[in-house]
Amino acid sequence: MTTFFQQVIYDFGRLIIFFWNTKGQDYIKESLSSMHSTDQLPCAIIFQSARGFGKKTLAIDFARMINCEEPEKSINHSCDSCVRVESMTHPDLVIIDTTSKCSDTSCRSCKSSKSISIKNCVISELIISKAKYKPFMSKKRVVIIDEADNLTNISEESLLKTLEEENDHLIVIILLKDLSKIQETIISRCQTWKLEKLTKKDLKLYLEEMYPENKKQVTDILSFGETSIGEAIEMINHPIILESKKGAVKKIINMLDTTMFEKLKYSKELSILFRKDRELVMQEINLWKNLFRELLVYEPSRESSEITVLIEDLYKKMSKLKVQSNLKKVIKIENSLARNANPLLALDNLLVSLEV
Ligand SMILES: [Zn+2]
Ligand SMILES: [Zn+2]
Repeated sequence: MTTFFQQVIYDFGRLIIFFWNTKGQDYIKESLSSMHSTDQLPCAIIFQSARGFGKKTLAIDFARMINCEEPEKSINHSCDSCVRVESMTHPDLVIIDTTSKCSDTSCRSCKSSKSISIKNCVISELIISKAKYKPFMSKKRVVIIDEADNLTNISEESLLKTLEEENDHLIVIILLKDLSKIQETIISRCQTWKLEKLTKKDLKLYLEEMYPENKKQVTDILSFGETSIGEAIEMINHPIILESKKGAVKKIINMLDTTMFEKLKYSKELSILFRKDRELVMQEINLWKNLFRELLVYEPSRESSEITVLIEDLYKKMSKLKVQSNLKKVIKIENSLARNANPLLALDNLLVSLEV
């Protein structure tokens, strides 16, 4: 039985409590612990999920577990290895992402700032050339490849060669949004874990525990629906992001009840934006979708915030049938925009047909 923060491992009769910074993902945490305590760690592992599910936190937790020197005390992260992992100064832990550069100051691919890829020179320098040496202070050298969706073809080839050499001192952790972005041959050499999205109930519990001072913000964030823990933490740490999301939600709620003139003006703005930044408009459509989904499962609660007051108001006004029909319309427009429908026509249609 695991609690939210602790994982109990029986290691040759010793009772070990491991402190995970990762919230949720109990099944993966239990499996990793058990592989570790029975010495059956794979050479390469993939953590796959959308953005904000906690892949990187999980990978760093795992790195800490693998090299912890005093697992009995690891609840305090107090051994030298754990302290170094936490402060990102562990000589045997390397994290690579699209911003990583090699040590050659004249390297052309690292100099070009436009490229958002994981470069082959970085893979060669930080993984391949070190793989033959033993780790400096720990049992294993841990390499975390973040944003691995952006490995170039050549980087993938180099990585594959290293994985094929199965090295006892090295474990490669690949963090990926989309499995189809990486060669099958790499996937076949890795153990793959898919992170689960937290339920709203768990998300609420964790956020309230982590941010007891930020009750109002947490209530607002939960009212948006469909938020990952990473996005929630980002919004609490960067009030400007939370405010802009609140602004967007307020705007669409107001839009439901405004004049035809305002609705058409808004849809024109969106369609102009669509030509410049399609992704932003799709995010806005997603807000509509989440709003109606929230209304379908809405339960009045004791905690109220600026946004929940607006949602509660809508909930009282709008019948469930209307909410369902609005949701269907939004999904239909979302699909037709994805299939390259004329954005102005599609958005006009949507705005005019939504009913309160
Ligand atoms: Zn430790
Ligand atoms: Zn380079």
